[in-house]
Amino acid sequence: MWTCPYCGGNHGLPFHDEHLDGMLCLGADCGRFVEESVIQEDSREWDYMDL
Ligand SMILES: [Zn+2]
Repeated sequence: MWTCPYCGGNHGLPFHDEHLDGMLCLGADCGRFVEESVIQEDSREWDYMDL
């Protein structure tokens, strides 16, 4: 289950576009965007190495 690192809430909405990958916290007092780019950047580096 996803957990917001800011408020600890478990209600998040997946959000993806050209520049952002992550979850939007639906906490009433939070509403922050939590990027999940770290894992994907690692996998992209491996792809570049293959090329
Ligand atoms: Zn939150």
